[in-house]
Order: sequence, then C-alpha cells, then structure tokens
Amino acid sequence: MSEEDPRFNSSGERLDTRFTSDIKSQGKNLVFIKTCRNPKELILGVNKMLPGWIYDVLDSYDKDLTPLTDAWNDLCKRSGSKPQKIVLVEKVVYHSDRDAAEYKILLTALDFLTKHGFCVREKNEFTSCVTGGCNSALLAKEVRNQLYKSERCKRPFVNMCLNCLSNKNNMLL
Ligand SMILES: [Zn+2]
Repeated sequence: MSEEDPRFNSSGERLDTRFTSDIKSQGKNLVFIKTCRNPKELILGVNKMLPGWIYDVLDSYDKDLTPLTDAWNDLCKRSGSKPQKIVLVEKVVYHSDRDAAEYKILLTALDFLTKHGFCVREKNEFTSCVTGGCNSALLAKEVRNQLYKSERCKRPFVNMCLNCLSNKNNMLL
C-alpha cells in the first residue's frame, strides 16, 4: 500500500467509495480513460477519480474455481488478450444504472479493463486468500456456503485457497 493510495486514509484505514466532485465534469474523465495507454495507468487514474471503486487486485482464481478460470480464458481469447488480474470493484455497472453520474465513466473503465484481459468482479462475491498469504480469489464466505448448502460445490468456505491449504497440510504431516 503506497502512502498516496487514495483508497486509504493517513492511518491506513480503507475509505468508503466516494465520487469526487470532479465526476460531474464527465468529459474530462472520459477523455482520460479513453486515452489511457495501459491498464496500470487506468487503475491509478480510476483510483484518483473514484477512490474506493477498485477494492482489490488479485492474481488468479482459487484452483477449485476452474469454471471461472475457463470462462475468463475464453473471454480473453475472444478479445485477443491474455489473462492479467482479477479486479474487485465496489459495484459493476449495469444498464439500469445509466442515469447515475458515474455510469459512463465506470462503463468505459470496465470495458477497457475487460478488453485488456482483466476480469472485473464485485467485491461482495469474492475475497482474497489473506490467511494463506497468496493473492488468489476465493468465493466470499456467504456465496460459498450458499452454494454448498444447495450442493453446487463440494466444500464449505475455508479462508484459504486449495494451494495454500494443501501446503499447510503437507507441513503438518
Ligand atoms: Zn492461497
């Protein structure tokens, strides 16, 4: 975490998403997004423009979420890109949000990231493997346990990805 990261206050606490007053002058921000040269520049810019919208950037999905990895690979193939990172955002924008001031900006940012191989997901659906110390995406506890209850996945939520879990078990043996 850099000291200049607008998502955190000076004591390192995460701030709520807030849209800067500048968001009203959409033209300027849209031009910025459309002229970004690469995703890194876009992510830094979006963090300044809409602090908190991008919640986390993760490397890959948990090993047991193969269908999600496959879908991501497919999407990349179709757009001629390579899988980059998973970007967790406060909220993905939908057509029904089109009256919101930030709609066009978020949509343009989403489009840009997707075209460049990023997988954009909502933060309430995923969490990171903090306990294992790697940077992969796990299904959020509520989502995972809901799927488990309806027998759509084999194990309930564990706060670690499969890789970290098997490393830990190997160490205990
Ligand atoms: Zn892990």
